[in-house]
Amino acid sequence: MAEIGIIFKKSRLVMLDDVCDKNKRLVDSIEAEKDIICKNKPEICPKCFSTDIKGVEVMGSYEGTLFWECDDCDSAILRFEESRTEEYLQLAKGLWTNPQDWGYVPPSEFN
Ligand SMILES: [Zn+2]
Repeated sequence: MAEIGIIFKKSRLVMLDDVCDKNKRLVDSIEAEKDIICKNKPEICPKCFSTDIKGVEVMGSYEGTLFWECDDCDSAILRFEESRTEEYLQLAKGLWTNPQDWGYVPPSEFN
């Protein structure tokens, strides 16, 4: 995963586009181990044992950390079970596909 988004404190705020491929199930594009769920921030990365773990927030999705990410090997660790994570990601997808819903006015409509 590339380093995109706003980095603040120990977490990263991203757009759905930065982390997900909309052509597949959103949670699958995170590429996390589906059987590892850490409600609280993991002490170490299950793959490379790094302690450099960050929370990732997705705009328009769950308010707060949606999943964790290792700063060293970029692997993701789920915070919620797979189906919940997918539901939260879908919220962000709705927001992205319906810009009218959040008051966006295209510049061409200004006079
Ligand atoms: Zn790692």
